[in-house]
Amino acid sequence: MNRRDMLLTAGTLPLVAAGLGAAGAAGPSPTAAGADGAGDGQASLSAEALRLQLRHTWTTVMSSSDTRDTIFVRYTRDGVVGLGEGAPIKRYGESAQAALQALQEVRPLLLAGDPWQHRELMAKLWERLPGQWALKAALEAAVMDWVGKRLGVPLYRYFGLDPRKVPLTTFSIGIDTPEVTRQKVREAAEFPILKIKVGLTSDEATIAAVRSVTDKPLRVDANEGWPSKEEARRKIKWLQTQGVEFIEQPLPAAMHEEQRWLRDQVEMPIFADEACLHLRDVPRLAEAYDGINIKLDKCGGIWEALRMIHVARAHGMKVMLGCMISSSLAIAAPAHLAPLVDYIDLDGSLLIANDPFTGLQVRGGQLILSEQPGLGVKLRPPAPR
Ligand code: MG
Repeated sequence: MNRRDMLLTAGTLPLVAAGLGAAGAAGPSPTAAGADGAGDGQASLSAEALRLQLRHTWTTVMSSSDTRDTIFVRYTRDGVVGLGEGAPIKRYGESAQAALQALQEVRPLLLAGDPWQHRELMAKLWERLPGQWALKAALEAAVMDWVGKRLGVPLYRYFGLDPRKVPLTTFSIGIDTPEVTRQKVREAAEFPILKIKVGLTSDEATIAAVRSVTDKPLRVDANEGWPSKEEARRKIKWLQTQGVEFIEQPLPAAMHEEQRWLRDQVEMPIFADEACLHLRDVPRLAEAYDGINIKLDKCGGIWEALRMIHVARAHGMKVMLGCMISSSLAIAAPAHLAPLVDYIDLDGSLLIANDPFTGLQVRGGQLILSEQPGLGVKLRPPAPR
């Protein structure tokens, strides 16, 4: 066992917490229910930023980083605590600090609203709060976790789904040198399907490095990295010879007409990610893509994701559930809907070294949902001193 694994086992990796909740610099407070003291009919809400440490520097076309900040919210009512997490996305002008600030605008509404009428409560919240999709996702997850806990059922059961039908998740390999890429692929030995980030001039070298150590099925994500439809066609035709199942967002999201052209030029299915934010995007995307990648942090939560799944199906599209880098609390929310989709890329918590939560397990790429009510995730107990 190396030092990092030892620290993980002991649960002592530090978290940086900052924000408006009860937690101090040492990390989230494990006893929100008692501390918040929200009794009969009284609700309370706490929120804080979590600083997550990445196992490897994470590089895509868009950025390179060693940490990620997410927002962690606790909604307490009748002595029951619902937990939710959202990962603000820089591309859409979001940040954890801005989300915590924005939460103040809707705090009274959330505290006064009836969680049993969560559709109306969320509709009001959406009306009041422009943007801030990751915050909306976090708040809705906390309310739905609360509902599941009050009903005593895991959310997959609330939605009538079979947890054994969760597809295998891919494990993502960020852009790196060929040597580090080979090492990352070897470290990912337990995962049967890999998702490889490309989108730079080094793409061929990256795929060659992966293929030098594994013949596993690959999925590829260009994150809008290829600037022209001709280049995208050339690269996809090459990827078709490399055992790649499908490609995600080859062209910039705004290049809709070029994407329509590209789709007719190649056999490989093409998924929209950056082009697919909300329900209203889905019908038009069906003209140019074969599938969509839904993320709760983009769309605003579990229920919007559910609507998007059904609309995509109605248009004959394949559906993937994806995630941002986050702890396992944020991963659990889409995981409860995963029996409804074709593919999942829910590996965000596997890329961090200090997951503060337990309950969602991943073995050999298979997500195992807890039978505990709600999201089935709780704070990891503090390490013994
Ligand atoms: Mg993507």
